[in-house]
Amino acid sequence: MSAVIRIVECPSNSITVHRKGYQPPRTVWRLPDEEIRFTRPVRLLTMQRLALFDLDNTLVDRSEAFRRWAVEFCADRELPDDALAWLIATDQDGAVPRNWFFGEVTERFGLAASVDETWRQYRRRMPELVSCPQEVLASLTLLRDDGWTVAIVTNGQADNQLGKIRRTGLDRCVDAWAVSGELGIRKPAREILEAAARGCGLDLSGGGWAIGDSPVLDVEGGRAAGLATLWVSRGKDWPAELAPPNRTVTDVVAAVRVLRGEASAEGHPDQPPAAGVSGLTTVRRVVSESPRTPRGS
Ligand SMILES: [Mg+2]
Repeated sequence: MSAVIRIVECPSNSITVHRKGYQPPRTVWRLPDEEIRFTRPVRLLTMQRLALFDLDNTLVDRSEAFRRWAVEFCADRELPDDALAWLIATDQDGAVPRNWFFGEVTERFGLAASVDETWRQYRRRMPELVSCPQEVLASLTLLRDDGWTVAIVTNGQADNQLGKIRRTGLDRCVDAWAVSGELGIRKPAREILEAAARGCGLDLSGGGWAIGDSPVLDVEGGRAAGLATLWVSRGKDWPAELAPPNRTVTDVVAAVRVLRGEASAEGHPDQPPAAGVSGLTTVRRVVSESPRTPRGS
């Protein structure tokens, strides 16, 4: 019987591994006075350089784009002064279903247009209001230049999300994307992450990183799929009731720096460090599938 374990850390004198499923890592090899010993045959795998990024409020500032849409919406319909604050509060940063949201909007403001028509107009306008900072696009390019494969995984209607990806230029900076509206699968389901990896010609069995601003959709979803997780906090506190991410950064440019090994980040002591930061690129020792004979036996 063999157990698949993955190297997650390789400082100068030891290898720390954890088993698939991200149980707490343990050090199994330490130099110079110990040799590698396993109680049963193992196969060591390095984590592939696959980065799966969320789109809204990770790669693009969806909150600002929504605020701009809401300002226009209020002005066009001459809505009362408190309408803007109501729209922003009811939107909940995009967390609520859009059909529900536009149902509420239609009812509150007594719109003549149907829910579907108002929603359609929103999807047409939002991609025009979203922008992706040049430094984010440049970061993704650097990440791919370092040998990483990069994909976007996002929930939302296909026209809206694909419009954002293409108008911002992100389509030229990633290898693939998976949009829930196209696939009929939503985060946090593992299948949408698998679809993104498959679009890159990879699969999740080789590991990788899930990066995003949602503790549930991106971090918990990524963890459940066997990925390491990097939370883009945007200055918020991590929900105490959830298991922490592997790493936390404030924005996506910092996330890329962590992946590229140029920066440290907040992390939980039981969580593995960023792949490719200090360890994986320096692993030189090949560990066989058979257990080593203990010294002196
Ligand atoms: Mg998001």
